[in-house]
Amino acid sequence: MGLLECASGNSLWRGYDYFKENKVSKIVPVDDGIYEASVLGSGTEFYKVTIDIPHPRRSKCNCPHADGKRLICKHMVAVYFTVYPEEAERIYREAMEYEVAEEKHQEEIADKLPTLIHKMKKTDLESAILQLLYEGPEWQYHKFIREYLDNF
Ligand SMILES: [Zn+2]
Repeated sequence: MGLLECASGNSLWRGYDYFKENKVSKIVPVDDGIYEASVLGSGTEFYKVTIDIPHPRRSKCNCPHADGKRLICKHMVAVYFTVYPEEAERIYREAMEYEVAEEKHQEEIADKLPTLIHKMKKTDLESAILQLLYEGPEWQYHKFIREYLDNF
């Protein structure tokens, strides 16, 4: 697995922000695929970061999140993106494209919803409504009773 694949979604995007904010300095290649750098933290402190691209889990950072652990922190991601800025832009572009496609998909579902509900069998609709009322938030349950079952 590559370094980015080892990072959590949170570390990936926080690392992207750090890269865009130019928080990485003093990058030195020390070996094949191994870089040392200094990364400005959220305060005034600088963290000493080593990324090992062939062996991501050997990467090091002395921040409290990653120190002594084998995980990929946002500082490592920021260094990686600074070494490969075109990777950062590609990943950002892909995420945006995914988000736009996902939004479009949700809109399509919302447009089709009335037709889909219209086609449902009455017994299926009844159990769907009961399930929504029992499993949904309490206000929804009370609202339904107020609006539709007032005669009871
Ligand atoms: Zn770190």
